Amino acid sequence: MKPSPITATIDFEKDGVQHGFLKLPHSHDGSAWGSIMIPVACIKQGVGPTALLTGGNHGDEYEGPLAILDLASRLKAEEVSGRVILVPGMNYPAVKAGTRTSPIDRGNLNRSFPGRPDGSVTEKIADYFQRVLLPLADLVCDVHSGGKTLDFVPFAAAHILPDKAQQARCVAAMEAFAAPYSMMLLEIDAVGMYDTAAEEMGKTFVSTELGGGGTARAATVAIARRGLKNLLVHAGILEGEVEAAQSVKLDMPDGSCYITSEVTGLLEMALDLGEVVRKGEVVARIRSFERTGAAPVELRAECDGILAGRHFPGLISAGDTVAVIGVPV
Ligand code: ZN
Repeated sequence: MKPSPITATIDFEKDGVQHGFLKLPHSHDGSAWGSIMIPVACIKQGVGPTALLTGGNHGDEYEGPLAILDLASRLKAEEVSGRVILVPGMNYPAVKAGTRTSPIDRGNLNRSFPGRPDGSVTEKIADYFQRVLLPLADLVCDVHSGGKTLDFVPFAAAHILPDKAQQARCVAAMEAFAAPYSMMLLEIDAVGMYDTAAEEMGKTFVSTELGGGGTARAATVAIARRGLKNLLVHAGILEGEVEAAQSVKLDMPDGSCYITSEVTGLLEMALDLGEVVRKGEVVARIRSFERTGAAPVELRAECDGILAGRHFPGLISAGDTVAVIGVPV
């Protein structure tokens, strides 16, 4: 395969603190010989494990970029045994635009793996992570939130994996992150995900959903900061103790945890995030705004659990995920 067109302006093998860019040539109307400059930091000392910490895989999720930028400006090489690679805005064009997908090619980076060196801008970014950055890492954490269209109780997540020893490593890292909730996550669509790419390489992988609505809250940014620091301690890269916190374990046994709307209208949630719901209870009503006198469409839970995620905007369309139920273990 062709080499990646992306070059790093820093040397990942060099000790010390380096701030630079992943430089992706992009010729367009505004800059004939231009490049997309994706910020990257590398903090390294001596021999030890490598952690790859990322945010902005989706451009409208903010806890990851905020916590990673903060960490990048604070971390000193003397504190580190091994290496920390920080990319606060993976899909940088999307981060700049504040959108989930790239405004250049509409690419959803988290559905673009393994990517292509000769593909679209988003596919080129995916390919660089697939073939250059992921192979350097032992521990990978990709910080997500709900973005503009979803909101979640703050959770760190691991997946059910065929390799149970690897799954145990991922679960231990998820627990070290110490988010208020820890979720064994069933993906709706795992094909093309960064998660899947990292897991298929045998990496210890943690993802999160820390909030949403296209903003970040004081509490959720604090959870992200604590979680990333805890992961570095857990990996043996930073000295100290993991800062423990109460975490409710959640499971998603099957697809009935997802409630999908079959109609379009105004969304009225019957309960809020974190509240308990029983099988058969109304989770949400969708009201037609086209006339008065019509009964709302009621959406009911198909399992017992808590409301772990919800559609965020007030308007909802057929096919949108209305709610995600997490089952406390
Ligand atoms: Zn996301």
